[in-house]
Amino acid sequence: MSKPKVVVLGAGYAGLVTVRHLTKKLSQEEAEIVLINKHNYHYESTWLHEVAAGTLTPNQARFMISDVVNPNRVRLVYDTVVEINKDEKRVVLENSEVTYDYLVIALGFVTNTFGIKGMEENAFFIQDIDSSRLIAEHIEYQFAKYSAGEITDDEALNIVVGGGGFTGIEFVGELVEEVPRLCKKHDIPRNKVRIINVEAAPSILPMFDKDLVSYAIQSLESRGVEFRMGAAISECTPEGFVVGEDKELIKGGTVVWTGGVTGSPVLGKSGFELVKGKVNVDADLRIQGEEDIFALGDCSWVMNKETGRPYPPTGQLATQEGVVAAENIAALIHNAPLKDFVFSDKGTVASLGLTDGIGNIFQGTKIKGKSAAAMKKVVDDRTLFLVGGAKTVVKKGKFRPF
Ligand code: FAD
Ligand code: NAD
Repeated sequence: MSKPKVVVLGAGYAGLVTVRHLTKKLSQEEAEIVLINKHNYHYESTWLHEVAAGTLTPNQARFMISDVVNPNRVRLVYDTVVEINKDEKRVVLENSEVTYDYLVIALGFVTNTFGIKGMEENAFFIQDIDSSRLIAEHIEYQFAKYSAGEITDDEALNIVVGGGGFTGIEFVGELVEEVPRLCKKHDIPRNKVRIINVEAAPSILPMFDKDLVSYAIQSLESRGVEFRMGAAISECTPEGFVVGEDKELIKGGTVVWTGGVTGSPVLGKSGFELVKGKVNVDADLRIQGEEDIFALGDCSWVMNKETGRPYPPTGQLATQEGVVAAENIAALIHNAPLKDFVFSDKGTVASLGLTDGIGNIFQGTKIKGKSAAAMKKVVDDRTLFLVGGAKTVVKKGKFRPF
C-alpha cells in the first residue's frame, strides 16, 4: 500500500508549525508531506503594520520557506490554491493539481470590507507583504510629490486609517515613528501631516480595560494622531472616508482600511459551510463532518468550552493549533486516539510604536509603556522561533535597542 499523503495549504503560522511538527511525528516511510504556498517565502503577518508604515523592510518580515523546511523531506509547491474538491480529495492550484489523503487548510485571512461602497477600489489593505509594502511606498510618493510641488493640496499628505482595532492602532503607532523621518527627508513641516484614525465604536481597542485604552489614546494623541471615534464609515471615495449621517468626507492622500478580516475565500469557493467567513471545527480541529480535513488559524472557529464562544483568531492561536493538528494527523495514521485542542492564553500586547504599548499578560497583569513594548518584541521573537527556529530569530529577530 502506498504511504498516506498529507497536504498542508498555506505556509503561515498554522501551516508552517504543522509541517515542522509533522516531520518530527512521522518518518519519511510513514507519510508523504506536501506544503503548498502562494510564495516561496513565509511572512510574519503580525509584523505587516510595520511594513505598511515603512518602519520595517519587507525582507525583514519574511524568510525563505526552504530555509526552515527541508525540501528533501517535504515537497514544497509554490502555487496559488484555487479550490478544494473534497469529494475527489483533490486541490486545484493555478498551475496544477494535488491529491491528498489528509488535508490541512491554513490559508489565513483576507481583509473584510463588509461590502462598504468603494472600499475595495479606493482603500489600501494591510493584507500581505505586497499590499503592505504598497502603502509605505504610496505614503512616500505623496510626500515626494508634495515636496516637488506636483501636488499643493495639504490634504494629500493626510493618512487616514479606518478601524481602531489592533491593526489600525498598531499601524498608527508605527506611523508616528515614520512620519517625522519622511518629513525630514522631504523637507515638509511635521504639522502639515495629519494621521487620522476613524473608528465606528465609541472607543478604540474594545478588548482592553478603560485605563489602558485611555493610556493608548493619550500616548498616540501626544504624538500627533487624531481620533474620530463613534464615526462609522459608510463609503470610501478616491478622496477619503464618508462618515456619519451627515456624510462628512474625511479626506486623505493615503486611505487605509483596517476594519476587520475574514477567512480565505477558497473556503466558500470549495463549498464548505461558512460561519462569518470561516468554518467551524471540532475540538480535534477537523472540520465538522469531515474525517480527513483540518482547518486552522484564521480559516476556522474553534470553540472555547469555558465561555461557549470561539477563541479570537490570532497568531498565538494559529501556532498552537499547528502543533495539535500535526499530532492528530500522526494519530490518524497510527490508528491512535485524537486529542482535543485547548488554547493556552499567554496574553495580548498591542504596540504603540517602537517604545510604547499596552497589554494584558499572565491572565490579568496589565502592562503599559516601555515594558509593554519590550514584551511585544519578546512575543514577536518567540513566534518567529516557533515558525523558523533559532537561526531565523538570529537573522530576522527584533533586537532593536530603545
Ligand atoms: P497566515 O499567517 O496569514 O498565513 C496564511 C498563508 O497562506 C500565507 O503564507 C499566505 O501567503 C498563504 N496563502 C493565502 N492564500 C493562499 C492561496 N490561495 N494559495 C496559496 N497560499 C495562500 N496575532 C497575534 O497573536 N499577535 C499579534 O501581535 C498580531 N498582530 C497582527 C498584526 C497585523 C497587522 C495583522 C493583520 C494581524 C495580526 N495578528 C496578530 C493576527 C495574526 O496575524 C493572524 O491571526 C495569523 O496570521 C493567522 O495565522 P494563519 O496561519 O491562519 O494565517
Ligand atoms: P478587528 O475586527 O479587531 O478591528 C476592526 C475595527 O474596525 C473595530 O474596532 C471595528 O469597530 C472597526 N470598524 C469596523 N467597521 C467599521 C466602519 N464601518 N467604520 C469605522 N470603523 C469600523 O480587526 P483587526 O484590527 O484587523 O484585527 C484582525 C485580527 O487580528 C483580530 O482577531 C485581532 O485580534 C488580530 N490582531 C491582533 C494583534 C495583536 O495581538 N497585537 C494585532 C493586530 C491584529
